[in-house]
Amino acid sequence: MGNLDANTWIEAEQYYTRLRRRYWRCFLGMPALFVVGALISVFEDKLNRIVRGALLSVFVVGWCAGCVGCLVTWFAIGRFRCPLCGKRFIVAWWGSWPSDRCKHCGLDLGPAARGSAKSPALADLAE
Ligand SMILES: [Zn+2]
Repeated sequence: MGNLDANTWIEAEQYYTRLRRRYWRCFLGMPALFVVGALISVFEDKLNRIVRGALLSVFVVGWCAGCVGCLVTWFAIGRFRCPLCGKRFIVAWWGSWPSDRCKHCGLDLGPAARGSAKSPALADLAE
């Protein structure tokens, strides 16, 4: 394993956390749009044609944006390289479910590691 300075670790941790947050926002935003879809279906007869069209547009555009956002972010997470070992952080032959630890060297980029000295970068900071 190579050496990892604290700034590199912090930048990698922030970038990886942003990617994971963006993925979950896109993923969970799509079911939230079902509220709009439910409003359309429940009040279909009572809604003005223009209002119904606007709500339907919000539903379709939001759903498509969520799908594209999930897909793009998923590929970005898959391409993310571990700052310590240089391998793809979440991609391993046994699985690619995102986790806070590198699948190859075990580097912890989770928010909990920031407060502890589990990461080699934070051990450097403690010195
Ligand atoms: Zn690694």
